[in-house]
Amino acid sequence: MKQLDRFPRQSLAHLPTPLEPLTRLSDHLGGPRIFVKRDDCTGLGTGGNKTRKLEFLMGEALEMGADTIVTVGGPQSNHARQTAAAAARLGLGCVLVLPHISKFQSPTYDCGGNVLLDHLFGAEVHLVDNEEAAAEKLGEVVMRLHGEERTPHFIPAGGSTPVGSLGYVAAVEELLGQAESMNLKIDHMLVTTGSCSTHAGIVAGLAALNRPEKVIGVSVYLPGEEPVASVRDKARETLELLEIEDVDLDARVEVSPDYRGAGYGEPTPAMVEAVKLVAQLEGLLLDPVYTGKTMSGLIDMIRQGRFQPSDNIVFWHTGGTPALFPYGELFTA
Ligand SMILES: *Cc1c(COP(=O)(O)O)cnc(C)c1O
Repeated sequence: MKQLDRFPRQSLAHLPTPLEPLTRLSDHLGGPRIFVKRDDCTGLGTGGNKTRKLEFLMGEALEMGADTIVTVGGPQSNHARQTAAAAARLGLGCVLVLPHISKFQSPTYDCGGNVLLDHLFGAEVHLVDNEEAAAEKLGEVVMRLHGEERTPHFIPAGGSTPVGSLGYVAAVEELLGQAESMNLKIDHMLVTTGSCSTHAGIVAGLAALNRPEKVIGVSVYLPGEEPVASVRDKARETLELLEIEDVDLDARVEVSPDYRGAGYGEPTPAMVEAVKLVAQLEGLLLDPVYTGKTMSGLIDMIRQGRFQPSDNIVFWHTGGTPALFPYGELFTA
């Protein structure tokens, strides 16, 4: 899409990511044909969806003269880990403020998985109790960096800005090109809806290209109807950035609140079942916080008869596998 060329972009991801059939899972469920878009294979620091956003977010940060990236997320934030890796790759400093935003706890929650990788990538890591403490710590960090004559640049949780969503506008174009060369007509896509900007980027991309494919989000963070408004607003902001107006987004935004469980990062039995099933049928690792819940949604929707057996479904694998380790006790029982 030529409108994307106006934005500064740093190459960070291994692209295109593969689009692969999940034949044994499709057979097992006796439903539609399921394909997986392997954005867990974006390559940077074990990969994931934030790397596509960071190509544009880091482009923006460097254009603004930043020398240190500051961001936030839960202790097992995949966004924080990919930001730390991107900063290392680009020779920038990185400060991570990680509040406890999930009720889930385990012996390695604050030191293993993504937190271990944050340290390895050389980030300065601050674990704090809650979001209030995070706001306070962020203020402190930015003041200190200015005092050291550094130029900090703040990226919000999840890399969730319209510029970040451009990564998924580009990803939609990539996927549609792959599908076309495979002669594959996509009927539905499923994506995990967290901070909402991945889903919003996909919706914006499909709208910008005037495409009929439907995308169903599975919310793992916001409850009830909240993510619908958030995805719609973020998709609109992304289209505005691209100078595309007058697009009706209402019919394009669907988010299911039914597979989130008690809250963000809190396991559900269906998530555990879905992660095990896909590992054992396909040799493919999902994650306990995001894609495992979304896959539990896909499995349930198939069982409820939501799709035709002839439908082609694309599941966006947005990464997150490092979090399997701090959640490991769930899978060994
Ligand atoms: C962040 C994340 C998501 C959700 O993306 P948002 O843009 O925040 O909605 C999904 N899956 C994984 C593994 C993630 O790390």
